[in-house]
This record gives sequence, C-alpha cells and structure tokens, in this order.
Amino acid sequence: MSTRLVIFGPPGAGKGTQAEKLATDLNIPTISTGDLFRSHMSEGSELGHLAASYISRGALVPDEVTVGMLRERLEAKDVHNGFLLDGFPRTLAQIDSLDDLLGEEGLSAVIELQVPDEELVDRLVKRGAESGRSDDTEDVIRNRLAVYHEQTAPVADKYRQRGQLITIDGTGSIDEIATRIREAVSRL
Ligand code: AMP
Repeated sequence: MSTRLVIFGPPGAGKGTQAEKLATDLNIPTISTGDLFRSHMSEGSELGHLAASYISRGALVPDEVTVGMLRERLEAKDVHNGFLLDGFPRTLAQIDSLDDLLGEEGLSAVIELQVPDEELVDRLVKRGAESGRSDDTEDVIRNRLAVYHEQTAPVADKYRQRGQLITIDGTGSIDEIATRIREAVSRL
C-alpha cells in the first residue's frame, strides 16, 4: 500500500521544511499547492495571474482552481508509491474533493504541526526578510493567520474525528521536530 500523507498546520509552522525531510526519508514526492501556485506565477501562466490576486492578499485561491491544479498533479506517475501533501486540504470542501480524488484507499494519516501564533508571526516576518516572499509581510501574515483559524483549522477537527490526525509539537529545533514526526510515522 502506498503512503499518502498530509502535513498540516498554520503558515509558518514549518510544513515546507519538515515535508522536504520526511518525503526524502520515505522516498515519496512532496506536493505543495503553494509551490505549484508560485511556479505558475513565475511562469506567468493564466492560472498564475489568477492565483496571484488572492495570494498577495493572503486569501485562499478558489477551490475549483486549486482542486483542478491538484487533480492534474496527482495524475503524474511519480505519485504511485505515495505522496506528501503540503498546504492541501485547507477548507472543509477541499477534504471532500480530496476524498473524491483518492478513492477508497484514502489517506494514511494527517500530521499536524502545532505552534503558538506569536511564534508564527516572528518566524514569518523573518522568512519574509530572507526569502522575499511577497506574502510574508506583517499585514498579509496576520490575514493568512485569520484565514487559517476561520477556514483551515476545522480541517484538523474533521481528521481528528476520523481518527487520522497525528498532532506533533512544532516548537524546538528543526531536527527535534523531524525526529518527532519520524517516530510518529514509523508507528503507522
Ligand atoms: P503556502 O505556500 O502553503 O503558504 O501557500 C501560499 C498561498 O497559496 C496561500 O496563502 C494561498 O493564497 C494559496 N494556497 C496554497 N494552497 C492553497 C489551497 N489548498 N487552497 C487555497 N489556496 C491555497
């Protein structure tokens, strides 16, 4: 059976960093909807232009656009052994879409990284200074956190009800967090 994971958490929780490590360990591709949007934006595609108008405000890109992009990515051959989703699902409706896309086998687990809000803002402001990501400015960050609490946090509750949520303490060093995740995944 393939390993089909989601890494979940607020912006700045370290999803991208931990996803890279875990996907390498498990030899599966990471599929980050944020990265897919950023590639479209740098290519200047029509989808990129559309997405940019939402991303620059810290709002979610409409579900039909995001789901269409993910559907296409999941058709590639490299996902046959499994995959690690980063940044999807972010709404309750996206859970339903993912259920449809994955069929009976569904997900193996959802790994939730928990980090207090004050630490998230600090981390994201620092990342903005280093990476120059246009949505890592303080007012956009605050909006992304508000969107997370309103629209995305209920996604964790849903997977908790399904018994698929693994909650990990997302504070500490990158290696400490990676070890916690590795231990939890080895128990699956
Ligand atoms: P991320 O790199 O995951 O922080 O995503 C950056 C931005 O891309 C988000 O703030 C959203 O505007 C957009 N985005 C990424 N994933 C999704 C998604 N699943 N649904 C809607 N918008 C998304």
